[in-house]
Amino acid sequence: MKQRVEDLDWKNLGFVYRDLPYRYEAKYKDGEWQEGKLVEDSTITLSEGAEVLHYGQEIFEGLKAYRREDGKINLFRPDQNAHRFTLSAQRLAMPPFPEDRFVEAVKQVVHANEEFVPPYDSGATLYLRPFMVGTSNVLGVQAADEYVFRIFAVPVGAYIKGLNPADYIVSDYDRAAYAGTGQAKTSGNYASSLLPSVEAHKNGYADCLYLDPREHKYVDEFGGANFYGITQEGQFVTPKSKSILISITKRSLLELAKEQGLNPVERQITLEEAFKMKEAGAMGTAAVISPVGSITYNGKKHVIYSETETGPVTTKLYNELVDIQYGKKKGPEGWVQTLD
Ligand SMILES: *Cc1c(COP(=O)(O)O)cnc(C)c1O
Repeated sequence: MKQRVEDLDWKNLGFVYRDLPYRYEAKYKDGEWQEGKLVEDSTITLSEGAEVLHYGQEIFEGLKAYRREDGKINLFRPDQNAHRFTLSAQRLAMPPFPEDRFVEAVKQVVHANEEFVPPYDSGATLYLRPFMVGTSNVLGVQAADEYVFRIFAVPVGAYIKGLNPADYIVSDYDRAAYAGTGQAKTSGNYASSLLPSVEAHKNGYADCLYLDPREHKYVDEFGGANFYGITQEGQFVTPKSKSILISITKRSLLELAKEQGLNPVERQITLEEAFKMKEAGAMGTAAVISPVGSITYNGKKHVIYSETETGPVTTKLYNELVDIQYGKKKGPEGWVQTLD
């Protein structure tokens, strides 16, 4: 059933799928991307032999549209999502979707569902989910030769509510192999992190923190967000690893941290070092920053800043980025695109 805008409570949206009026769809066949268009049908019909159902050719993106105070709508760095989508496609042997068309399609979906962009100050946003799947029949392991690219939109509340510190547990599992698909935004990485995250939730943790898959010594990332720490010397540090996703939020915070004199650096961070951070956080589009209250490892809980309060550096970085996203502050050139 289609979502009706009058049935929405902007303050209590959660992070759940809703069937909005329009989505964008384009198909790839005969060696090229066909013209795409907005469609109303939220279902995709697949053959039982479709590649994605067996060998997992699926990649996706996540970005948001923000309602400004003046009623206009901002997109935050959609070109970066378009580019990462290209990199993910290449890793999964899929045909990249043209980046300019990706951004154009995002805008079309926002415009078509404009009444679903939550009001300014509700804390809610319109989340966009571009994705691509291999649809042609395969039996032997091979890449598909037909694909569907889609973007749907869903109004969402804050993914993990605001700036409340959360508890994390170090997982014994790996989410991605060293030279595997960790740098691609693909469903397979999430499939492998589902069991660990189900177990973590059952035990009261917000999510897992994964270690590097080769030595289990360095911090990699959370299930769906990158890690940063603020050292005792006040430096912003975030892991450098071949098995983590390059977060656009992370890339943006690296720039803001530089402006704030936090001397940011990407390098390996041992778990022991992470325990001693002054502050730490999880970075991603869904939550922007989710402060790390504690990290549990081998049955021992290491409190980072505080289990109930958010540290000053994290608070400042969070406010700075959110103000830029909503157009309250001017960010670096090209970060924000305001729709006409
Ligand atoms: C999407 C994602 C992130 C966050 O990336 P953003 O571009 O900041 O939203 C981090 N880690 C993983 C595994 C992800 O899938």
